[in-house]
Amino acid sequence: MTATIINGKEIVASVRDGIKQEVHRMANEGRQPGLAVILVGNDPASAVYVRNKEKACHEVGMYSELHRLPEETSEQELLTLISQLNVNPRINGILVQLPLPAHINEETVIDTISVHKDVDCFHPINVGNLMIGKKGLLPCTPAGVIEVLRYLNVPLAGKHAVIIGRSNIVGKPMAMLMLRENATVTVCHSRTDNLPEIARQADILIAAVGRAKMVTKEYIKPGAIVIDVGMNRDENDKLCGDVDFNDVLETASYVTPVPGCVGPMTITMLLKNTLEAAEHAGPNVPAR
Ligand code: NDP
Repeated sequence: MTATIINGKEIVASVRDGIKQEVHRMANEGRQPGLAVILVGNDPASAVYVRNKEKACHEVGMYSELHRLPEETSEQELLTLISQLNVNPRINGILVQLPLPAHINEETVIDTISVHKDVDCFHPINVGNLMIGKKGLLPCTPAGVIEVLRYLNVPLAGKHAVIIGRSNIVGKPMAMLMLRENATVTVCHSRTDNLPEIARQADILIAAVGRAKMVTKEYIKPGAIVIDVGMNRDENDKLCGDVDFNDVLETASYVTPVPGCVGPMTITMLLKNTLEAAEHAGPNVPAR
């Protein structure tokens, strides 16, 4: 068997098209959704991510504003800006690009973002809502993975999903979303014994580790669907995932390419969250 390479471009285009139409409809009613992105410091990778997010906003017709702050910005200055954006009716979503410089406490910053504008879904209240299954904003990367699986009409109920990675950004929320879909979920991490053996039990294997090409065919049950969240650099400084793509092709049924699937889907879900936040904000209602 040779795996089908999941066409991330097609899925992203299809979801963004739906968002674009909705944004257009709202803009005609005079309530164009708006995203504020805050970048502190000069991290080149962060600058690229921020640019891609801004570009995606423009492509779907959303309003966006970028706040570029110098490295030496104080925590208080950043919190003041967030507080202003929290009550700015033009802005429905606020994204603070992480990591922040060491002198700024990320937790304090995340806690300051309005729960209703927390389009990254990092605020403890939104994380809690996800945990107890309340409706609300969903974390972008895991929600993007679910969207890909939905697009492919992959049945999730009763399937065994194995997630490698337990970070607050990817692994843990991914597990919650898979549970919501009625999958049976196993979460693995750096202390998991017999990792390849557990991974081989997966109908759907999701790798969110941060280790270039760690997941080889020994990790894959024949016919498994493999979703690669990882974004790493290989020995030639080329972008690659956590999955050894060529090695698993003969064993998996579907596999996502890196780059070109989960990355752009994550940005797409950011747009979707901003749209949803705007829909809930109503016409000209200042933020709560
Ligand atoms: P973290 O470093 O926060 O978490 C990595 C997780 O992998 C941890 O739970 C860690 O275990 C586990 N891990 C590390 N080494 C091993 C190992 N040898 N065996 C098993 N588990 C291991 O990373 P993130 O979750 O933030 O990101 C993971 C990857 O996804 C990265 O490559 C990142 O760049 C990428 N990413 C991509 C996004 C996208 O948009 N495509 C968005 C976010 C992330 P432990 O908890 O025990 O330390």
